[in-house]
Amino acid sequence: MTTQRVLMVGAGLSGAVIGRELATAGYKVLVMDSRPHIAGNCHTERDPKTNVMVHVYGPHIFHTDDEEVWDYVNRFQTFRAYKNRVKTTTRGGVYSLPVNLHTINQFFGKTLRPEEAFEFITQEQADLSIEDPQTFEEQALRFLGADLYEAFFKGYTVKQWGCHPSELPASILKRLPVRFNYDDNYFFHKYQGMPENGYTDMVAKILDHPNIEVQLSTTFTRAQCDGYQHVFFSGPIDGYFDYELGRLGYRTLDFEKFSCDGDYQGCAVMNYGEESVPYTRITEHKHFSPWESHVGSVCYREYSRAAGPKDIPYYPIRQVEEKALLADYVALAQKTNNVTFVGRLGTYRYLDMDVTIREALDTANAYIMAKKAGEITPAFLVLPL
Ligand code: UDP
Repeated sequence: MTTQRVLMVGAGLSGAVIGRELATAGYKVLVMDSRPHIAGNCHTERDPKTNVMVHVYGPHIFHTDDEEVWDYVNRFQTFRAYKNRVKTTTRGGVYSLPVNLHTINQFFGKTLRPEEAFEFITQEQADLSIEDPQTFEEQALRFLGADLYEAFFKGYTVKQWGCHPSELPASILKRLPVRFNYDDNYFFHKYQGMPENGYTDMVAKILDHPNIEVQLSTTFTRAQCDGYQHVFFSGPIDGYFDYELGRLGYRTLDFEKFSCDGDYQGCAVMNYGEESVPYTRITEHKHFSPWESHVGSVCYREYSRAAGPKDIPYYPIRQVEEKALLADYVALAQKTNNVTFVGRLGTYRYLDMDVTIREALDTANAYIMAKKAGEITPAFLVLPL
């Protein structure tokens, strides 16, 4: 049997994990990426001046309930315990997120116990007339009420998404819990941590296999698919088709980097809830590695805006218009043989890292099984509609 050659477009988590699984199964894998580095948007590198590990494309905190995914990442990197504790500045105060008992008591000037706070929010704040919340705004008004919504979510969301929360799906807010105790852990997952030497080191180790070749600073064109038995494409799905039906909308981020000595803000992430502050948050990177000590500090002020053709796409905007265009691209993709679309950009979904890895493992497995059975591999493992 001749060796089967497969092409991974993109050296982020999807490309690295699928590449590694196929390489282990005996395939020869070429992983290419247009950027000069691996690891996609979770790329980390040390700042040359301060030696602080910087999350170059914004904060990435690993959290999961998926035991197999946790074991997988731990094969390639030691994960240090890290709990994401986010603060937010609004209306002249600093509060803790996600909204918890401390936030509620501090914001309303009360000393409520859990049951009292629950009663207060559900009976005096929440808008119970909204039975089945569909939009971000309805979800916030239904479960938090107007006061908390306006102080913590409305301004931030307008800045982050560039539209009114009544135009966004409830699913975006559902990412954040509301707690009636003092637990200020941003995530609720069983496992949470930071890779000791950064995400790029972890991805480098995933890619470190004799059957894998990595080619950076290489822009993909469809002509490069020739000679490969299969292509896994983790770039933007509309980009694969040369945007022939139009462009899917994304939000992009601009980071204003600044350095200082000592501790700038005392935490890794400080959000700014009000629309009058032009940035959404400030990230102080050394707090992502609390086991290290640094004299200097590196911070990013983060601004969100609509992505233009030359900008890095970050967050897919899945509104009605984009979903219709996505459906047209999905139809094209389903007619494209020997290509599977994967990851955040390939499937145009807001994916956390653990879900990306879970889907990559499942995709690789499905591919290996399909090949053994002589079946055609589908263009998508999860239909992104
Ligand atoms: N959000 C907000 N205020 C905050 C934090 C989050 O309004 O202080 C909203 C915002 O719309 C955001 C969404 O909640 O897009 C999900 O937040 P998450 O922290 O999951 O966003 P990410 O870190 O992925 O950008």
